[in-house]
Amino acid sequence: MSTNEQLATIYDQVRTRSAGEPEFHQAAAEVFESLHLVVERRPEYAEAGLIERLCEPERQIIFRVPWVDDAGTVHVNRGFRVQYNSALGPYKGGLRFHPTVNLGIVKFLGFEQIFKNALTGLPIGGGKGGSDFDPKGRSDAEVMRFCQSFMTELHRHIGEYIDVPAGDIGVGAREIGYLFGQYKRLTNSYESGVLTGKGIAWGGSQVRREATGYGVAYFVAEMLDSLGTSLDGKTVVVSGSGNVALYAIEKVHQLGGTVTACSDSSGYVVDPGGLDLAVLKAVKEDRRGRIDEYATEVATASFVAGGSIWDVPCDVAVPSATQNELDADAAAVLARNGVRVVAEGANMPTTPAAIQTFRDAGVAFAPGKAANAGGVATSALEMQQNASRDSWSFEYTDRRLAAIMRGIHRRTVTTAEEYGMPGDYVHGANIAGFIEVADAMSAMGVI
Ligand code: GLU
Repeated sequence: MSTNEQLATIYDQVRTRSAGEPEFHQAAAEVFESLHLVVERRPEYAEAGLIERLCEPERQIIFRVPWVDDAGTVHVNRGFRVQYNSALGPYKGGLRFHPTVNLGIVKFLGFEQIFKNALTGLPIGGGKGGSDFDPKGRSDAEVMRFCQSFMTELHRHIGEYIDVPAGDIGVGAREIGYLFGQYKRLTNSYESGVLTGKGIAWGGSQVRREATGYGVAYFVAEMLDSLGTSLDGKTVVVSGSGNVALYAIEKVHQLGGTVTACSDSSGYVVDPGGLDLAVLKAVKEDRRGRIDEYATEVATASFVAGGSIWDVPCDVAVPSATQNELDADAAAVLARNGVRVVAEGANMPTTPAAIQTFRDAGVAFAPGKAANAGGVATSALEMQQNASRDSWSFEYTDRRLAAIMRGIHRRTVTTAEEYGMPGDYVHGANIAGFIEVADAMSAMGVI
């Protein structure tokens, strides 16, 4: 059997076994596309069922999460934790609370997380979890009761050396606080290293809140540097307005770029002179409001209901909202408008056809597993601080983050070159991440 046939057979088995999980199939297909380059050169990677083992989560936990709302009505949600791969360290990855969450979504995120975490060079395995709970419109007390119920089951399965959850969409400092409080209460131990994204006063790390967004901006700066230019004077469009987007905007502005548009699920705002981050943070972080409120408060801004934010011309695009938000049509518009660099702030926001459109148009495209790894990398730094009962300064942690992002960029670029795909960040990230995990798995035997 040729390498391609062998890989196609394995991929078919993965699909059949995970019927009805299209996002997971998509995430797996993206990695399989790169694997033939490695396996042709190093056939030992296809031996001992290594690829089959990598595609199958080590453990998947699904549980009932019952809770009572403020009116006294009982609700039942579904909780998930997929402990995907622990070859490099304890399972590590966020929790997502969003109505679209199902097993396929959690598996796609967990699968991506394995390679992303490997690329950071830090000792963290891959996992992901969450629930179909919708925090939108819920009171703090309702969110607290939900988190307490969620942790009442999850606490049996996690631990500093086992599995270390953090935030993702719908899970920020507030939720991590409620989750940590309940874990502490159930276990009667102050195990700081069991969750990351904690508050600074109770074991959290400086820069963790900012890390994913800052990391993407650092990565974009590296990409532009490879093209012989910089962020200085560049226009940037960042979709979303959650944690990743806000801090990507902050760092892009610090590095000399101008972010002219951002969005939420209701539409997008354009502010041609550059978004006013203080107003944006007041709307989104303090008030948990809608993006049109920005345009109400800032005279130079306009709000477009619905529509595609990718219609806004820019030099750099940073999709930071959610999966499959940027399709081939949007990619074609961006390319036509002269975009030079696209970096994923969210996980898998770009469809496979859009990635191909960028490749064909010669646009530099960085996948999330490389570009947005700064969040989880800083989570690993939080774990280091917890393990040594230490806390580092903002400046020191930020320097470590910047160095990690430079390292990921260098590794991605050199691996792509080594495997005959210069400038292709997708192949570079997939191959570099895969080799790291595969080598560790082979060393440990068939487990
Ligand atoms: N949810 C983030 C991600 O997609 C962060 C995970 C973490 O810090 O563990 O990488």
